[in-house]
Amino acid sequence: MEEEEIMEIGSDPHIIAFPFPSQGHINPQLQFAKRLISHGIKLTLLTTLHVSQHLKLQGDYSNSFKIEVISDGSENRQETDTMKQTLDRFQHKMTTNLQNYLHKAMDSSNPPRFILYDSTMPWVLDVAKEFGIAKAPVYTQSCALNSINYHVLHGQLKLPPESSIISLPSMPPLSANDLPAYDYDPASADTIIEFLTSQYSNIEDADLLFCNTFDKLEGEIIKWMESWGRPVKAIGPTIPSAYLDKRIENDKYYGLSLFDPNQDDHLIKWLQTKPPSSVLYVSYGSIVEISEEQLKNLAFGIKQSDKFFLWVVRETEARKLPPNFIESVGEKGIVVSWCSQLDVLAHPAIGCFFTHCGWNSTLEALCLGVPVVAFPQWADQVTNAKFMEDVWKVGKRVKVDEKRMASEEEIRNCICEVMEEERGSEFKKNSLEWKQWAKEAMEEGGSSYNNIMEFVSMIKQS
Ligand code: UDP
Repeated sequence: MEEEEIMEIGSDPHIIAFPFPSQGHINPQLQFAKRLISHGIKLTLLTTLHVSQHLKLQGDYSNSFKIEVISDGSENRQETDTMKQTLDRFQHKMTTNLQNYLHKAMDSSNPPRFILYDSTMPWVLDVAKEFGIAKAPVYTQSCALNSINYHVLHGQLKLPPESSIISLPSMPPLSANDLPAYDYDPASADTIIEFLTSQYSNIEDADLLFCNTFDKLEGEIIKWMESWGRPVKAIGPTIPSAYLDKRIENDKYYGLSLFDPNQDDHLIKWLQTKPPSSVLYVSYGSIVEISEEQLKNLAFGIKQSDKFFLWVVRETEARKLPPNFIESVGEKGIVVSWCSQLDVLAHPAIGCFFTHCGWNSTLEALCLGVPVVAFPQWADQVTNAKFMEDVWKVGKRVKVDEKRMASEEEIRNCICEVMEEERGSEFKKNSLEWKQWAKEAMEEGGSSYNNIMEFVSMIKQS
């Protein structure tokens, strides 16, 4: 790390953004960062080499934004490492590298005044304290999840739960099937629970807490979170402004894609040929893997629905597709390995999003007014699906059997209900309302906009 790089950032208030290096965590923090930059804050993004190589930036941000690459120790990864070993090494290596970076940055002409860090890296707070820098975690999951994880950390809830109905403050009653499931890989379930609940272990020392949500969506839970003793600020949905309030030029091209959406031109052209709301978009995000049998049911359920479809099957999942499936659907559907999901969801031809309900996909569906078939697999996706179906009422959740398998018939029926039946029109109407509310939150004078501006003033005065 060169000394002169640290001094390049200019003389306006300077802060650090330090996201967890995975697809679903970086984009929300980058979008937040970008809004801060557009209001005169200088920002250093601390991230890994792998992430820095996949960032897509456009426009001249050289004087207000720079990237510092630090190692996360993944070069020493062994095939046999457990998840715990990987996470421990990550924390150890990143702590040392953050300390090294801060030693230099604090001596530079424009030292950072604040660190925004991903809430899953609570040890950043301890390092920030050593250097006397103000700090705040950024939560990239729903506040419902924050509440659930917090109760688990404090021994007020067990996962899996011991009772069939779970009542938590400011939340609808939840059944065991609505709580996050971490037993996808039983060998690492305890490690994952420890990792996720650690997000709340030292918040009493944070200056404030930022959440990627908005008041209209989760206002009651946000209020309850304030009982933790720190200000809680919703700054979302952190969707590029090009898709929402159009406040930032070139915003669409400023983000991260760890996969290559190389077929985008072709598929947008294909979407242009389809009638409004006639195409089903299917994706289960960047991480989830589903069994071969489940993928087969999904393929035939989609085919039987007889809808046009655009399906993202990541390269690592493609071998599970039934033989000749792509040929057998002909003009009816397209399978791609990755796409620009926001461009697809924003296209008028899309009538339904068959989603695994990752928090980013959930917010993207709400912001772009697309009704959903919810097909959660594990972790927070399960709770997000509950809220989509029963609280925000924007779609239908797929029913699964005791082995968590969904049949072809169930998949077909859910798609048809959302895309054809009277309930489908209700889902569409509700989705369009959420789209409007999301936009209002980020517009000048909106709840999230005001929270962002308050933070900008706080930094400028610090
Ligand atoms: N995504 C994308 N193209 C795809 C599939 C997903 O751009 O083909 C993006 C999607 O827009 C979202 C992110 O990847 O922003 C996935 O995040 P999410 O929280 O929904 O799920 P995760 O991948 O963390 O399970």
